[in-house]
Amino acid sequence: MSHYEKALKAKAELNTVSPSFCLAKWLQVSLHLTTGRTHSCYHPRSHKIPLKEIERGPSALHNTEYKKKQRKKMLEGTRPVECLYCWTVEDMPGDLLSDRHYRSAEDWAMADMDIIRSMPWDADVKPRYLEVNFNQACQFKCTYCSPQFSSSWMAEIKQYGFYPTTFGYNRLEWFKKNDLIPYGPDEKNPYVESFWKWWPEIYPHLRIFRMTGGEPLIDPNTALVLDYVIHHPHPKLTISLTSNLCPPDKNFQQFLTAVSELLQKNAIENFFLYASIDSVGKQAEYIRSGLDYQKFNENLERYLEIPGTEISFILTFNCLSAPGFRPYLEWLLNLRNKYSKGKQRISFDTPFLHHPSFLSLQVLTPEWKKSMQETVAWAEEIYRDRPEALDGFTSMEIDKFKRVLQWTCAPVVDFDIQMNRANFFFFFTEHDRRRGTNFLKTFPEMKEFWNQCEQESRSFKQATV
Ligand code: SF4
Ligand code: SF4
Repeated sequence: MSHYEKALKAKAELNTVSPSFCLAKWLQVSLHLTTGRTHSCYHPRSHKIPLKEIERGPSALHNTEYKKKQRKKMLEGTRPVECLYCWTVEDMPGDLLSDRHYRSAEDWAMADMDIIRSMPWDADVKPRYLEVNFNQACQFKCTYCSPQFSSSWMAEIKQYGFYPTTFGYNRLEWFKKNDLIPYGPDEKNPYVESFWKWWPEIYPHLRIFRMTGGEPLIDPNTALVLDYVIHHPHPKLTISLTSNLCPPDKNFQQFLTAVSELLQKNAIENFFLYASIDSVGKQAEYIRSGLDYQKFNENLERYLEIPGTEISFILTFNCLSAPGFRPYLEWLLNLRNKYSKGKQRISFDTPFLHHPSFLSLQVLTPEWKKSMQETVAWAEEIYRDRPEALDGFTSMEIDKFKRVLQWTCAPVVDFDIQMNRANFFFFFTEHDRRRGTNFLKTFPEMKEFWNQCEQESRSFKQATV
């Protein structure tokens, strides 16, 4: 059965409970232990986990009083406002399926439909899909990241203050006001302590466990999890981890050893690595400060040498990805050619960046948009020559590229474009000053665009401390 058919079937089953019922509210959870926040699923804004609730028991990490009230609404057929993402899709013409149907249709969710529907609304539930970030320790300062997720960003902002865009990018006061200041990497964190109390209880029930960061491979909790799983095999569990692939060698070697052991012993169903990279070479290093492109590739190959491993690249499409778009796809095809024999081991996703808006693809000039169109046309040609080939592209991937293009070329208000280009100039001028980089040396082909941004900047005022 296709994803679509499964989701259609799930829709009918969910409707027997209510038209707003969604299994993800019970069975899927993201835990941001660094800030003590949670959401189910990840579309609604995260909310704070009250410390007094986890003092009564660690299951409150997922089953907060707030979340239980949203579940009650779903059982009664009321739409929780926080799930607007799905209601918007469902209210569009054409009877579209939303993530509510797709997520609930997943095997890890639908198998428990009858159990969930028969529980009281305020029951504590053990999740099947758990995503966790333990720590904001990270040696990178990617341009679009923030002090909330990276300790290196935090250190820089503490030293120099926010970036002087018109609104003050990565202003610490904003994070304080929104209760988003994380526990430091070495600080005692009651949410992490609670997690470890809860872990043995939920572990046998999990089907998917994801670790994100910060950089999970420099966080000791990651090694503890992998060690636990080696000693408590769980053949129905899929583990995944998102990494920047440049942790210290010792940590990376430990990680490789653990993954080999897990796979050799069939201790889990599957292991999946996600690695973020948005361009190639020096340009990739500029976008993600801290990246060592050569080391990234070496570590990638070390990982792929382990039989049975798979990787998915996350290309967070931002305006600086445009010049390297075609070389990036060529790099991917080379990897596929080398490692995907008989089975696809290399996949990728292309989410496009919305925030900060001055880095979005929409700030680009028509020439750059045209160059991206040419790359997509080139990829389509490869697809037409060798449809679905393991060392080519899939139709789904071609569709993704087209969606990126659609977003890039969507009409935008003139004033927003002008302000975003001005902020682009303000941000990278300061970036080069603080980090000793040189935008024009790294992106010489963007000189005209840079000049245009500089010109726009004359009409705007930078935020001052
Ligand atoms: S209704 Fe949509 S937004 Fe809400 S939990 Fe389900 S999938 Fe997520
Ligand atoms: S590697 Fe991840 S956590 Fe670290 S700065 Fe980049 S995006 Fe942020």
